[in-house]
Amino acid sequence: MASTASPTATSASVTTAAADAAAVADAADAVSVDAAEPAAVAPVAATAARPGPGASTAFADAVLEWYATHARDLPWRHPEASPWAVLVSEIMLQQTPVNRVLPAWQAWLDRWPAPSALAAEPAGEAVRMWGRLGYPRRALRLHQAAVAITEEHHGLVPDDLEHLLRLPGVGTYTARAVAAFAFRQRHAVIDVNVRRLVGRAVNGRDDQRTAVSRRDLELVESLLPHDAESAAQASAAFMELGALLCVARTPRCEACPLRRECAWRRAGSPAAADTGRRTQSYAGTDRQVRGKLLAVLRESPVPVPQDVLDTVWDEPVQRGRALHGLLDDGLVVAVAPGVYALPGEQAWPGVRSPSGG
Ligand code: SF4
Repeated sequence: MASTASPTATSASVTTAAADAAAVADAADAVSVDAAEPAAVAPVAATAARPGPGASTAFADAVLEWYATHARDLPWRHPEASPWAVLVSEIMLQQTPVNRVLPAWQAWLDRWPAPSALAAEPAGEAVRMWGRLGYPRRALRLHQAAVAITEEHHGLVPDDLEHLLRLPGVGTYTARAVAAFAFRQRHAVIDVNVRRLVGRAVNGRDDQRTAVSRRDLELVESLLPHDAESAAQASAAFMELGALLCVARTPRCEACPLRRECAWRRAGSPAAADTGRRTQSYAGTDRQVRGKLLAVLRESPVPVPQDVLDTVWDEPVQRGRALHGLLDDGLVVAVAPGVYALPGEQAWPGVRSPSGG
C-alpha cells in the first residue's frame, strides 16, 4: 500500500530527523544471531534515544510510492503466500539471488506445502531437494525448523519474534522478516540492501559493514510508518530499493526517489572505507569439493561407497577434509564402513563398502 506523497517530499528535515536517530549512544550489548543470517548483530546502544513521531513519513512515503510501480512481482509477496512459504523464501534468499530461488522455492512448496509435510520426511530429502542452491546447511535447518513447528506449534509458523527466534536456523533477520512479511507486523527488517540504502541516504556513508547494531534497528524502525500494515510494506520497499537501485557498486541514483535529499549524494558520494573483506573464489576451494561430493549423494537413490566419491576430486587430502566437513555438519552420514548417504537414509542390502562389507 503506497501513500500518495511525492518523491520530492523527502525533505532535509526528514534526513536530519533520521540522522538524529542515528546519533544514539554507541556502547552496547551484543545480540546473537544464527550463523546463517545474512548479517550479524553487533554491539549496540542499550539506551538509545528514539526519534519523534513523523520522522518516518516522507522517507517511507517516497520509497512506498516508488515501490508501488517498480516492485518485482515475487510470489512470496502475494497475499496468499502462507507464513511457511515466507519462511522458506527468507531462508533460501540468504546469500542466493532471486532468480535462482524462484524455481527452487516453487518446487519446495509444491512438494512440502506445510511444515508437517517436510517434517514427515528424512532430513536427507531436504538436502536432496535443496539441489544446487548452495550453503546446504540451510536445508538441514529448514527441516529442523519444520520439525519444531510441527511438534511445538501444531504445524503453524509462530507469529511472534520470541518463538520465531527459537526455531532452528532462525536468527534476528529471519524472525523479523517473517513477522513483518507473513504476519504484517511493524519491525525493522535489515538485510544487506536495507543497510546500504539507509547508510547512504540517511547517514551519508557507503557502509559496507555486515553487522547490524541495535542502533541500526532503531534507526530503521524510526523510518517506518506507524501503522503495522504500512510498516510491513515499507520494510519490503526499503529492501527492494536497495536491491534494485541503491546497489553496491554503481547505484542508480538518477532513478531513485530519494536522490534529492540523499545524504551520501549531498556529501559528494564518498567512497566506502575498505573493510578488508575479499570475495573468495569458488574454484578449487573446499566448498567446491563439498558441492561435488554432495551432488553425487543427492543424485544417487542408494548410499554411495567411498571409491565412487573418490572420483569427484583428485587431491585426496582436500577431498578427505571436505567429506569430514560434510559429516561434521550432519549433511552426510556413514551408513556402513566406507559407505555414505544423506541423513536419514539407511544402507540398502547389497551396497558394498570398499572393504567388501
Ligand atoms: S540517491 Fe543513490 S545513493 Fe542515495 S539512496 Fe538513492 S540510489 Fe542510494
